[in-house]
Amino acid sequence: MEIKKTFKDLGLRMSKQRMAVLEFFEENKEGHFSLNEIYEKISQKNKNISFTSIYRACKLLEKLGLIRHISFEERHIHYESNLTPHLHYQCLICGKIIEESPEWLRELKKKLDIKDFLITSYRIQIHGICKECQDKYPEDIRRKLRT
Ligand SMILES: [Zn+2]
Ligand SMILES: [Zn+2]
Repeated sequence: MEIKKTFKDLGLRMSKQRMAVLEFFEENKEGHFSLNEIYEKISQKNKNISFTSIYRACKLLEKLGLIRHISFEERHIHYESNLTPHLHYQCLICGKIIEESPEWLRELKKKLDIKDFLITSYRIQIHGICKECQDKYPEDIRRKLRT
C-alpha cells in the first residue's frame, strides 16, 4: 500500500489504529460518519482499540488530507473520505445533510489555488430547511424565508 510508504516518509508509524481507520474509509467511500460510528464499526473487529486512539487517528488522517471533517453547530464532528469538491446543505430541523457538487465549486477551488500549496479542505456551511421539513411549515413563514 502506497500510503504506508508515505507514513514512513513523514516519520509516522502505521499503527493498527491508523490502519483500521484507513480501512474503514476504504470500505465507506460515501457518507459522513461520526467518531462514534467509526469507533463502533472498528471495535466490532478490533476489540482492543480505544475510542481515544480512533479519535487521534482521525485527527491525523485529516491533517494528512486523507479525510475531511464536517461540523455543523450543535452536532458531533463527522468525517468523510469523499475528497471531490462538494457542498453540504444541512437541515436545521431534522439534521439531514444534502450534498451538491456544482460546477462553479470546481472553478472556485481552481481560483483558490496558489503556487506550491496543496489545498486539503475549505469550508462553506449552508443551513436551512429540507423539503420534508418545509412541508410542515406554515406557508407565510416559508414565503418570508424565500425572499
Ligand atoms: Zn429536514
Ligand atoms: Zn460530504
